[in-house]
Amino acid sequence: YLQSQNERESNARSYPRRIPIAIDKADGIYVTDVEGNKYLDCLAGAGTLALGHNHPVVIEAIEDVLHHQRPLHTLDITTPMKEEFVNEIYDSLPEAFAKRAKIQFCGPTGSDAIEAAVKLVKTATGRSGMLSFQGGYHGMTNGALGMMGNIGPKEKVANVMSDVQFLPYPYAYRCPFGVGGKQGTAISSNYIERLLTNPEGGVPKPAGMVMELVQGEGGAVPAPTDWVKEMRRITKEQGIPLILDEVQTGIGRTGKMFAFEHADITPDVLVLSKAIGGTLPLSVVIYDEKLDTWAPGAHSGTFRGNQMAIAAGTATLQYVKQHQLDRHAEAMGDQLMNDLKKIQTHTNTIGNVRGRGLMIGVEIVNPSLSADSIGSHPEYPEMAKQIQKECFDRGLILELGGRYGSVVRFLPPLIITKEQVEEVSSIFHHAVEAAEN
Ligand code: PMP
Repeated sequence: YLQSQNERESNARSYPRRIPIAIDKADGIYVTDVEGNKYLDCLAGAGTLALGHNHPVVIEAIEDVLHHQRPLHTLDITTPMKEEFVNEIYDSLPEAFAKRAKIQFCGPTGSDAIEAAVKLVKTATGRSGMLSFQGGYHGMTNGALGMMGNIGPKEKVANVMSDVQFLPYPYAYRCPFGVGGKQGTAISSNYIERLLTNPEGGVPKPAGMVMELVQGEGGAVPAPTDWVKEMRRITKEQGIPLILDEVQTGIGRTGKMFAFEHADITPDVLVLSKAIGGTLPLSVVIYDEKLDTWAPGAHSGTFRGNQMAIAAGTATLQYVKQHQLDRHAEAMGDQLMNDLKKIQTHTNTIGNVRGRGLMIGVEIVNPSLSADSIGSHPEYPEMAKQIQKECFDRGLILELGGRYGSVVRFLPPLIITKEQVEEVSSIFHHAVEAAEN
């Protein structure tokens, strides 16, 4: 089964390199390979599978579309299913934002929606530059790649969108200012404000700022809420539209329906994908009506709003709300974080455990190399890979992330139970011990 993958698939393939199985069946938090081995899936479609694999409400919604001659494809012409989805999304948003929000269905991926968001703020402001953050990830298309903090994937590609200024993210464990914690965070926001307001700051007024509230691929790094509030204040005062990329954090993952609710702010543009399609491809941008300066047809595309994804998305949103999965994610995230912090006390290769809700990162460091001014030891990607392998061999799928691929990331479905969290923690503990020996 792995032959075509190894011989014919693009050299750019990524996950299969360290997850070398052919998945045959999937149910809830588990996947089973063709040889019958069962794995706990804490990668979950890179955060897409809020309700896990093949959740009954999702299957039922898809079957309903298939068995009642509902249209599978309508371009962006509306349908009762689409109306229901839009109502469900608006009902999930804070009222103040929902009242002035417009929605645009985009191509099916997160990257498509990011491109749309950039194009929207460029049209609305007439300006061209973008602000993004060190360590940020927004996708692999031209503009999204241009706004990626990680230099590796873009340095071999000519002409990637280059009108991007990168700002320091408040990554307390490896603060770019050489001081950690709250102090580093405060320096970061002061620095950004000065950069944007000081005539000698060197940054021309940009079209927008794009930001993740918890950097996902960047290693599950949460931005402190005070800092997020500061970014909102600064962008508002400066007339810079704030684009919140909630492709990974949205729909309950961080313990709130949307991660911006932790800081009690609202965005100018909200980008959603992954979980909103209930495991099928779907993405939208939701934005303040004052930015709605697009001419009719200014943003189009064939696959905007796949009806099955819309139906699966509605069922997912309803289930998340009915079962308060945001609160559940918070509780399960707390339990997992506590377990991981306990494991950290038994080893010195875990430098940092952080995250929000069910988006957690464990940063693996090399304790035999000397620490920096904050007391953080250098990244240890080889050990992270070994831990990932030991987890995999014990039936737990996890992915790596972070600046050097040295962060083990936990992104389980939101429906994970207390017992399953215990199982994940126990396997991880054994894997760390095995990797170190
Ligand atoms: N933004 C964020 C925060 C993401 O995590 C991702 C995907 N990992 C994207 C954008 C891009 O989404 P897609 O892969 O669907 O293009």
